[in-house]
Amino acid sequence: MTEPPVAIVGGGWAGCAAAVTLADAGVPVTVYEAATIPGGRARRVERAGLPLDNGQHVLLGAYAATLALVARVHGEPAARRQFVRRPLAVVPFAAGQTDALRLVVPRAPGRLGLLVALLGARGLSLDERVANLRWFRALERAGFRRPAGESVARMLAPLPPRVARLLWEPLCIAALNTPAASASAQVFANVLREAFAGARDASDFLLPANDLAAIFPEAAARYVEGRGGSLHTGERAQVVAAARSGVTIAVDGRAATASAAIVAVGPHQLRHAFAPEALAAHPPLPAAIDALAALAYEPIATVWLGFAHAFRLPAPMTRLDDAPGQWAFDRPDILARAGPGSPRLAQLLAVVISASGPHTALSGDALAHAVDAQLRRIEPRLPPCAWSQAIVEKRATYACTRNRPRPAGPRLAPGVYLAGDYVDAEYPATLEAAVRSGIAAAGAVLADRGPH
Ligand SMILES: Cc1cc2nc3c(=O)[nH]c(=O)nc-3n(C[C@H](O)[C@H](O)[C@H](O)COP(=O)(O)OP(=O)(O)OC[C@H]3O[C@@H](n4cnc5c(N)ncnc54)[C@H](O)[C@@H]3O)c2cc1C
Repeated sequence: MTEPPVAIVGGGWAGCAAAVTLADAGVPVTVYEAATIPGGRARRVERAGLPLDNGQHVLLGAYAATLALVARVHGEPAARRQFVRRPLAVVPFAAGQTDALRLVVPRAPGRLGLLVALLGARGLSLDERVANLRWFRALERAGFRRPAGESVARMLAPLPPRVARLLWEPLCIAALNTPAASASAQVFANVLREAFAGARDASDFLLPANDLAAIFPEAAARYVEGRGGSLHTGERAQVVAAARSGVTIAVDGRAATASAAIVAVGPHQLRHAFAPEALAAHPPLPAAIDALAALAYEPIATVWLGFAHAFRLPAPMTRLDDAPGQWAFDRPDILARAGPGSPRLAQLLAVVISASGPHTALSGDALAHAVDAQLRRIEPRLPPCAWSQAIVEKRATYACTRNRPRPAGPRLAPGVYLAGDYVDAEYPATLEAAVRSGIAAAGAVLADRGPH
């Protein structure tokens, strides 16, 4: 008799990471994804023939688990072509931008790159640069450990306010999608440790050079299919009965048998991934789900702006002045992959606004208008905007606050395992957290199966 597959509920980056890990171990998997395209919160979104993403994403060189899995499913050198990879740099959008910081983190082992960057930062006084260096050394000497319940704002308090405002607060919002006043200092310190105290290229940033579904979830689906598994889109699944000997899944009303299930849905979708009888049979399940009700969420808006005339940006990722856009990204790859009938554009920018703020009240059109006006204020020579599209993800990530609830470990009930960005203890809600959690859940499945 053939062995029933491991069912994976949710085809985001966490579910796909679990699927690839199990397929590599020779375990059959079936992934169920409710949407018509895999990728979840990091997926392709077609607009007017343009293969956009639901939100501009940035990865770090420190995202070791994600980059390794992208390499596994694509192979080299195709994996390298998925990203534009550069040393981390904070570069203003326009030359004349006032009160702006400019720094480049050269590739160097450990903290050396950041120290060189902080010393050479333009836009900070000598005193501010020295204070910055001292602060980072103290953080490092403390082993990147922060007091329980500390906020990022409190962690930054010893710094001159301009240094916090121009450098660390924007990086906190970008990395944690949570304002410094409420963000977890420990999680921010974890990110700083991984990016600035590790391998020489850990602080690199990587911008997608392909759409987000193609970079991993679709390639993962092909990889899994090549090893006897499958990924079904447009299929919503629920765990109906769970036991160590096997799990029953309902897929759009029909029953399927699985040897185990990994539930890799967003935290707010968790309750609906279980049928009422499964919740009633395993009291720890509703208790774990109820604990997550205390999670708050933060939005991310991406405003796509197209121009009929090309212009040069000083870098692929540039810093704006937060009123309202925070960062602008150059995405020539999207125009190179544009379908027939798409608007004739010579330049496409993605402008990102992380976390909530006064802009949250604006309609998509009004937000696009506000960002266009902002760019024009900063750089009056910009050609006219020819096309725009705002995509707002209201629940982009959980708010990475000081005392947020976190489910313990991947084992949820007999035969049922949990994956998702909110499960990882170290990283904020990111692709790396999602991938790490998927690998951990697959590892727990393999460990509990024992040698086969
Ligand atoms: C706009 C935006 C910008 C971001 N920017 C960055 C960034 O720059 N860098 C970074 O690292 N991270 C970024 N993130 C965060 C990152 O995208 C997420 O942390 C990550 O994608 C979460 O993956 P996941 O697999 O845990 O969850 P999800 O992506 O939410 O996947 C869950 C999947 O489960 C499916 N599902 C739910 N219920 C069911 C069911 N019953 N049956 C079947 N399927 C179901 C959903 O459709 C979904 O596809 C951003 C997120 C957004 C939204």
